[in-house]
Amino acid sequence: MHVSDWDAVLDAVLPTARDYLASLPDRRVYPDTSPDEIRAVVDRPLPETGAPAEQVVGDLARDLSPFVAAHGSGRYFGFVIGGLHPAAYGAELLVATWDQNAGLYAPTPGAAVVEEVATRWLVELLGLPADCSVGLVTGGQMANFTALAAARDQVLREVGWDVEADGLPGAPRIHVVVKEGRHVTIGRSLRYLGLGERNVVEVACDDQDRYLLDELRATLARLEGPTIVCAEAGNVNTGAFDRFTVLADLADDHRGRSNPTWVHVDGAVGLLAAASPAHAHLTEGLARLDSWSTDGHKLLNVAYDCGVTICRHPAAHRAAMSVRASYLVQGDGEVREAMDWNPEFSRRARGMGVYATLRSLGRSGVAAMVERTCELARRFAAELAGSGRAEVVNDVVFNQVLVRWLPPADHDPDAYNDAVIAAVQREGVAYVTGTTWRGRRLMRISVSNWATDRHDVDRTVASMLRAAIAVAEPAATAASEPTTAG
Ligand SMILES: *Cc1c(COP(=O)(O)O)cnc(C)c1O
Repeated sequence: MHVSDWDAVLDAVLPTARDYLASLPDRRVYPDTSPDEIRAVVDRPLPETGAPAEQVVGDLARDLSPFVAAHGSGRYFGFVIGGLHPAAYGAELLVATWDQNAGLYAPTPGAAVVEEVATRWLVELLGLPADCSVGLVTGGQMANFTALAAARDQVLREVGWDVEADGLPGAPRIHVVVKEGRHVTIGRSLRYLGLGERNVVEVACDDQDRYLLDELRATLARLEGPTIVCAEAGNVNTGAFDRFTVLADLADDHRGRSNPTWVHVDGAVGLLAAASPAHAHLTEGLARLDSWSTDGHKLLNVAYDCGVTICRHPAAHRAAMSVRASYLVQGDGEVREAMDWNPEFSRRARGMGVYATLRSLGRSGVAAMVERTCELARRFAAELAGSGRAEVVNDVVFNQVLVRWLPPADHDPDAYNDAVIAAVQREGVAYVTGTTWRGRRLMRISVSNWATDRHDVDRTVASMLRAAIAVAEPAATAASEPTTAG
């Protein structure tokens, strides 16, 4: 291969990258397409002979561009999907270029030290104990899994059982306490860990999907033995935070009755609130708990994929994850070995994006980003409630807004809400998704992008109102629908 091949590949891809990034403020937010339309341009028989790399990626850039969902758009509010900060993007280009295997220090000294710094910064930014251990994993799912693996190690070790060596057969029972409104990745983690998705003690929630504290207190009072409690910073629907000070007190009481106890916080949506002084009331007591997970690729706006596990008990975290093999080259504790803290073996240097983003934003920039997104969520809530056509059904304490569109008399309420969501998606000015919450279909708005501004919110609200009216009165509005997303 000639050096010039790299130039040809860059020349084939970079113009598309530039055009795409420049188009973000105005392009359709979600492609109006079908799987077959996409197959028509990319699906072909496995080639026998191949083609020059620059030709392949040039074709891919041209052919696939129309089908890209603009997650980086300031008007993408679907699921909980963060944007891409320019510093994270630049770091990502370096990660791809250098292609480091950041599983250990030895193969990749530079990336390993950058990740050492990035993880220390994260702990400091979030106000968590300085001696916490950190794993940089693929996402919130694996962050929950990793933290709960550490929890499983610790609560069983305290009763004399080594789960890594001996497994779960014959082990003392672990009570896993969860709440009704938990994220599905908690159950999935418990499944991976052999603890069983159904083998949990479920506690009822209040109207914002927070633990009902009296119920949790009563539940813990009747449990004996190793106990793991799964709490949340930022519910995926309501954005609500559990009351951590009370949880920490309850955990102390439970421990005081000789029960090994661990409280894990799924903070995929909201852990970053701890970096914002304006949200200090939501995160009080957070630092007294045992483990925390969050997503770099949500509100921190680093590239996919990046999740974070932070753990107050490094020994349990390391026992759950670390690996030794005769051929590996591992340090004596002088350097951070990612493999000690991750379920992965080989891995990309995802901490580079965290490092670059934190260095570019600084502590005050992160706080401002969190506060801006949450303020814009409140703006959505105020404008939609003020329209008279919708009600906001959650307390908008963070970046999540749950909206119920008020159906005209002859419309089925759930079908109407789904139709409004579909009409917004079709118009392409903005993108939102729905949820079923407490038996009702709702529109769910997640403001998770550093790039979103007031103008984006106002344009999105206008699109939503057009959709609500068009679905309610199709004949009256057919003529006035915009023909392009603009
Ligand atoms: C998104 C999310 C997860 C899963 O995170 P991934 O990064 O998608 O793996 C877990 N918990 C909550 C509350 C989430 O919102």
